[in-house]
Order: sequence, then C-alpha cells, then structure tokens
Amino acid sequence: MTHKPTLAVWKFASCDGCQLSVLDLEDELLLIADQLEIAYFKEATRGELEGPYDVSLVEGSVTTAHDIERIKEVRAQSKFLVTIGACATKGGVQALRNFADVGDYLDIVYAEPGYISTLATSTPIADHVEVDFELQGCPINKKQLVEVLTAYLHGRKPQIPNHSVCVE
Ligand code: SF4
Repeated sequence: MTHKPTLAVWKFASCDGCQLSVLDLEDELLLIADQLEIAYFKEATRGELEGPYDVSLVEGSVTTAHDIERIKEVRAQSKFLVTIGACATKGGVQALRNFADVGDYLDIVYAEPGYISTLATSTPIADHVEVDFELQGCPINKKQLVEVLTAYLHGRKPQIPNHSVCVE
C-alpha cells in the first residue's frame, strides 16, 4: 500500500479562525484528503495518529511556558512545518500585551488573576522553532493554503505573493 503523507493541524493561542479556513476548504479539502492523510486535527476529527507527521499546520502564538515546550515537540515531530495566520506568524492581536504590563491586564480581566499562568509576551512560532513556510493573513486565504499544500505534494515552492519563506 502506498504511504500517503500525513497532515497534522495544531492550535496555540488563537481564535480558531484559520483552522476554520481549513475546514472551509470543502471540495478542496476532499481533494487534499485524497492525497494527504489527515492524521491529527482536533477541530475536525476525533481520531488521531501518532507522529511523526509529514506536514504540520500551526495556528496561534506562544503565550505560555507550556506552549514553548509543546511547539518544540510539534517541531520535533514535523518534517515540514507551516505557520498559518497572523497569530502564528506575528504574535496576533494578543501581542498587544508586549507593549504593556500583562499583570495590569490580568488584574482588570480576571477576578482571580493568581490562577492565570501566562508569559508577559505573545510571540510568533518562528521565535521558538524553525519554520519552513509562513502563510500570512487573518484569517488565511484558503486558496493560498491549497497552493501551499499542493506545492508541498509536488515538491515545489508555493507561488504566493509577498510570502515569507524561512528556509529552502
Ligand atoms: Fe484568528 Fe486571525 Fe489568529 Fe487566524 S490569524 S487564528 S483568524 S486571530
């Protein structure tokens, strides 16, 4: 039996909008599912296959100490890692905390701020691990995502205007 490349989708600090763009692919998702095995995608499926994974899509930014450990694990299990959306590529709107005192926000928002464990900053995934491709947008453009996955399957560079390629 021919091995299909496996796809995993991961969430960090985010609104889930970019994952919804993946789900919104509809017909294209079926086409992709025919060529890639969706091995881990909590938003879409209950089942999960263990890594390593051929392609990982990562949504969201790093905002907790646990996130730092988790993204390192994701990187270790991923041959090709793509960050999707402004949260993952730039830190997202939650990076507003980078210009303020996060403690002030916690005091305003939470009745018991002592229960909240968070970093003082929200940072892009590429600040913590090597990223193979960054897909910008808030949310991402689903046609651009199809182009990234199709390019991967055909072993070529994605043709996306104003994109950031982090490594060859
Ligand atoms: Fe949501 Fe925008 Fe972040 Fe995507 S980039 S997860 S749409 S806030």
